[in-house]
Amino acid sequence: TCLPPPRSRIFKIIVIGDSGVGKTCLTYRFCAGKFPDKTEATIGVDFREKVIEIDGEKIKVQLWDTAGQERFRKSMVQHYYRNVHAVVFVYDVTNAASFRSLPAWIEECRQHSLGQEVPRILVGNKCDLRDAVQVGTDPAQKFADSHSMPLFETSAKNPDDNDHVEAIFMTVAHKLK
Ligand code: GDP
Ligand code: MG
Repeated sequence: TCLPPPRSRIFKIIVIGDSGVGKTCLTYRFCAGKFPDKTEATIGVDFREKVIEIDGEKIKVQLWDTAGQERFRKSMVQHYYRNVHAVVFVYDVTNAASFRSLPAWIEECRQHSLGQEVPRILVGNKCDLRDAVQVGTDPAQKFADSHSMPLFETSAKNPDDNDHVEAIFMTVAHKLK
């Protein structure tokens, strides 16, 4: 007899933050294992997936990365926020404005019923640009604590950060398991 392959569970994780913080690069890094050679600005919604294994069970991790542009967001936003299992908020450590935007992103999630009951994590990206850091670990950690989120500081670009980027999304997946 020929059994159908076991259906894998799917975790839908949305990656949110200002345009340019590195959402596309982070999701690409996780799914493809490397920094993309070139990226184009996301139009509408980018969508990547990777099958991981947790405790012997195959799980399909779907990462949704949205464009910041309002005119795309308006039409996509409902779709994007449907059946979400976890939220990853991203800011750019070299861009203070992207950090200041976080409360607005958190509020948008809250309005779509994605509050504290959904696993949420905070990621400070572009840590390879050490000389340009505008958002230090202390204020970021305070902010993360105040919203009951773990903080990860990482780089989608630094080749040595492979395990780290992996760890971010694996941490989320483990929370969901
Ligand atoms: P998105 O708009 O949030 O999806 O941002 P992208 O992933 O398109 O990245 C925006 C720009 O930042 C691109 O030029 C990337 O090459 C660059 N970038 C993304 N992640 C990193 C990183 O970790 N370090 C550095 N130095 N540049 C990065
Ligand atoms: Mg993008």
